[in-house]
Amino acid sequence: MVSQQQLLQAFDSLLQPERFKDYGPNGLQVEGKQEVRRIVSGVTASRALIEAAIAERADAVFVHHGLFWRGQDGRVTGWMKHRLALLLAHDISLFAYHLPLDAHPELGNNAQLGRKLGLDGSGCFGEQNLGWLGQRADGASFASGLELEIHLKNVLNRPIARVDGCFGAIKNIAWCTGGAQGYFEAAIAAGAQAFITGEISEPQAHYARECGVSFFACGHHASERYGAPAVAGHVANQLGLEHLFIEIDNPA
Ligand SMILES: [Zn+2]
Repeated sequence: MVSQQQLLQAFDSLLQPERFKDYGPNGLQVEGKQEVRRIVSGVTASRALIEAAIAERADAVFVHHGLFWRGQDGRVTGWMKHRLALLLAHDISLFAYHLPLDAHPELGNNAQLGRKLGLDGSGCFGEQNLGWLGQRADGASFASGLELEIHLKNVLNRPIARVDGCFGAIKNIAWCTGGAQGYFEAAIAAGAQAFITGEISEPQAHYARECGVSFFACGHHASERYGAPAVAGHVANQLGLEHLFIEIDNPA
């Protein structure tokens, strides 16, 4: 058992949130009980995740997408009321780390997605250096965009949106988890032949075709499933806590 403050310090020293300009507060977002024995991790602090954490008798929840974002109007009504009411009624702390969780060099979303896909990172690109560049860990190339799509589909177990731009073999791959379609132009400038992220918007299909770089959208949730359990599991291990990752499926 550790104090909530010790747990916060462990997350903060691992993820160093002070290094990022983010869209919401990182760290302890909702204060629960002072002593923590059991952590549940998940991608998003949704009502389903909070209910699952309650059923698992968690003292703290660790997520990538917390409750508070820039641009919200600040009212505690509707879904916000229900999520907060559940956390407060059960005295469960909510820890949320957004960009710092994407970026951690070994345990973050990008590092973990790369590992899952068999990619070795060799450099970074884009705003706040959040994008990763690399190649297959086995040194081989994907023979085509279709071959890379099939690989992504098999590993992530979901349909992939593919727009071909590069029609030869694909060796240099850029990736950035979540809603990072806005990183595509930086990936093109960095010399990638393919870019993998969670979401696609309308302009990226044209950039892919016009710039000769293929685009793969794997799902925001699917691309960000691996950082939270890696970080929460690491910290739980370090502090002797119980940890459980709960997957709440999301097709988006
Ligand atoms: Zn995200």
